Amino acid sequence: MRKLVEKKIVLASHNAGKLREIAVMLEPYGIEVVSAGDLGLTEPEETETTFAGNARIKAHFAAQAAGLPALSDDSGIQVDALDKQPGVYTADWAETPNGRDFPMAMTKVWTLLEEKQAAEPRTARFCATLCIAWPDGHDEVVEGTVEGCISWPMRGDQGFGFDPIFVPDGHTETFGEMDPAQKHAMSHRAVAFKKLKAGCLDG
Ligand code: IMP
Repeated sequence: MRKLVEKKIVLASHNAGKLREIAVMLEPYGIEVVSAGDLGLTEPEETETTFAGNARIKAHFAAQAAGLPALSDDSGIQVDALDKQPGVYTADWAETPNGRDFPMAMTKVWTLLEEKQAAEPRTARFCATLCIAWPDGHDEVVEGTVEGCISWPMRGDQGFGFDPIFVPDGHTETFGEMDPAQKHAMSHRAVAFKKLKAGCLDG
């Protein structure tokens, strides 16, 4: 994998939760991080049907626009009893005319599971794909997942997105209830970041 030797990168996301988590992961590397929002970049259409496809669209778009290496994250939750939905459309399930409404989207997941009388445990996983793209068109892509199950009602106000209904395997707290450091030690994003670190950041 190509090493990241540049000391400044753009985070190709406008999602505050992702930006916070990725900035913490990059902190030890002495890399200056600017966000797509800081640079006034627009958001490209996510027209692919895979996490990797959309991560690549976002990273290449930002790398070209900023003239800097760009790191993107495309992620979501797959609920097994819902045929792995919402998957790449996780953010879309929260869209309303007035912005994203995650309690509404989590209620939709739960309602669909109840309507199907889905068996317990209602297994699910968070998936994250990270992509670093360089202005010359090269990119590196890594993926991570964390297995768990859907729990109801929503619990916890740490984290973001679907964290309040996801309990990772081996735990009783939702990601929304966990201390951020505990989530960062096991999350889908952390698993993907470890691969990125080994391939592009270390030594
Ligand atoms: P996208 O990658 O911008 O298409 O959006 C991914 C969506 O998945 C986010 O808006 C969140 O709703 C959800 N998601 C991704 N990672 C996490 C996480 O760590 N916790 C909770 N929700 C997440």
